[in-house]
Amino acid sequence: MVPGLKDMTIEELTEEFDFLGLWEDQCRYLIELGEELPPLDDSEMIEQNRVHGCQSQVWFIPEVHEDATGTTIGFRAKSDARIVDGLIVVLLTLANGKTPEQILETDFAGTFERLGLESQLVPQRRNGLYSMVERIRAIAKANEGRQSPDRTTGSETTEVENTSDNDVVPSETSGAQGKPTLPVADDAKSLDIELVRSQFPALHHTLDSGVRVTFLDSASSAQKPQCVIDKEREVYEQYYANAYRGVYRYGDRISRELEHSRESIRQFIGAESTDEVIFTPGTTVGINLVANAWGRKFLKQGDEIVLNELEHHANIVPWQWVAEQTGAVIRYWPLTDDGQLDLDASAEVLSEKTRLVAITGMSNVLGTVPPLSEIIAKAKAVGSLVLVDGAQSVPHMPTRVAKDGIDFLAFSGHKLYGPSGIGGLYGRRELLEAMDPFLCGGHMIDQVTMNGFTVAHLPAKFEAGTLPIAQAIALGRAVEFVAELGFCPVHSHEQSVLRYAWEQMRQVPGLQIYGPDTAHRGAIISFTLDGAAAQDVAQLLDIKGVFVRHGHHCTMPLHEHLGVPATIRASFGLYNTKHDVDVLIDALHFVRQELKLDS
Ligand code: PMP
Repeated sequence: MVPGLKDMTIEELTEEFDFLGLWEDQCRYLIELGEELPPLDDSEMIEQNRVHGCQSQVWFIPEVHEDATGTTIGFRAKSDARIVDGLIVVLLTLANGKTPEQILETDFAGTFERLGLESQLVPQRRNGLYSMVERIRAIAKANEGRQSPDRTTGSETTEVENTSDNDVVPSETSGAQGKPTLPVADDAKSLDIELVRSQFPALHHTLDSGVRVTFLDSASSAQKPQCVIDKEREVYEQYYANAYRGVYRYGDRISRELEHSRESIRQFIGAESTDEVIFTPGTTVGINLVANAWGRKFLKQGDEIVLNELEHHANIVPWQWVAEQTGAVIRYWPLTDDGQLDLDASAEVLSEKTRLVAITGMSNVLGTVPPLSEIIAKAKAVGSLVLVDGAQSVPHMPTRVAKDGIDFLAFSGHKLYGPSGIGGLYGRRELLEAMDPFLCGGHMIDQVTMNGFTVAHLPAKFEAGTLPIAQAIALGRAVEFVAELGFCPVHSHEQSVLRYAWEQMRQVPGLQIYGPDTAHRGAIISFTLDGAAAQDVAQLLDIKGVFVRHGHHCTMPLHEHLGVPATIRASFGLYNTKHDVDVLIDALHFVRQELKLDS
């Protein structure tokens, strides 16, 4: 029962909602309900009673009622917005007068679904609603199992101390997982490669010379399928607005689309909650976020960070920087001669001083795929966290962060057939909650005063400012596209192209391939041609329409290890074919001729 309100059950309230049918009318009804909510005293509308995570100001005052039959909890609450007051009435109708145990068993999310609130409320308001649920559950949790005083008569009502948001018990509703958004692929099917290729417009161009483009630089940045291009365009043409701000229709739609994308990404990488999926500009920023927000807070003098020479500068330099700031020490896990992590050397590099193993999921030069589960097990055995640089691995193989015990995973949208300027960082909830914020400003705060600020809940805590909105939405479409094809067919296609390329390239005179055999690598081959500068090779291949990257590929320590200043890299995406390999081989013979390497 809601004090001061007419006695109404949740069934009656649901019937009224059903009767009204239209959201417009239901919204009016919520306002009417809210108008009946009794006011609080000014002395009660204080910080201690405030519920954080709501856009409006909301205050909750719990009262625990004890009598001979047991303990029940009642709430008085009020906000500064009338629709929110209406939502408070819904919540109090659900919770008031129940025992702590009954409150904890209450299916809040199910009721919101039945009332249509799940689909009608804009995400900020929905988050606010769940913040109130969390407050109610935290108070119930704090009073669970409370024995009523041993009295035979009489009863007592106590205004109990409010539970702060820091004590909030994570509920099954917070960061609730949404409905499946990812298509399920038929793993037994092989890739219809011509159909796949037809979806990538940029693959179908010819140069002025009449030569067809052969794109072999997906490790640098992949081409985009039409559905991703269309999605970004749809955002601008149909409902563009800033996200998480406006309650008007475009603002609402854009926020929903973003959350849909976040949910697809969550499923794609196997995270438990969308709260753990943070939009970032890409892998580099994701790793910098962890280095600064986790590293600067938790690393101390003498703590060790374990890296290896395969790593991209993005997974070396932030750690060097943070080590310099904190006094932590960097250790390098040795490589075998063929460019794999030397697992026999694990005891030399891992110890109780190891705080973090930061490792690539797939080398962007050698294609090496380290045995992550073995490495994670070894790291966990010494109490270390594991960060995976997924820039290259996430587009090519399934990622299951929760199942595999990955603590942080950073990846880039542009290598995943999605837009540039957007990527993701996964972090385990407890870690993200314990970390400092990284960038500060709008959206990442809960309260700001002249004297300071408090931070917003996840994931907003790490999403300061305006996101690259259209790109983030289109990234969701990109992961749906890959999921639709399925990693089984994609991986076996890419590996067969890789094996073919490996065999053919080894027959080109003077061509040296770096790194492990095809059983231990993804679809990347870096090589040199004896007697030819990498840049000349790449330039001449372009004449034949073959687009490859050359240089150190942001891996100077690895190139030092290989003993060459630069390599040429052919990298394959899900759209490349054995025919592309044939074109590359012909073009390599052309390069050899042009550079007179035979003579
Ligand atoms: N790590 C690896 C393994 C990469 O290949 C790259 C991109 N070349 C990065 C990190 C950096 O990614 P981004 O430039 O998208 O931040």
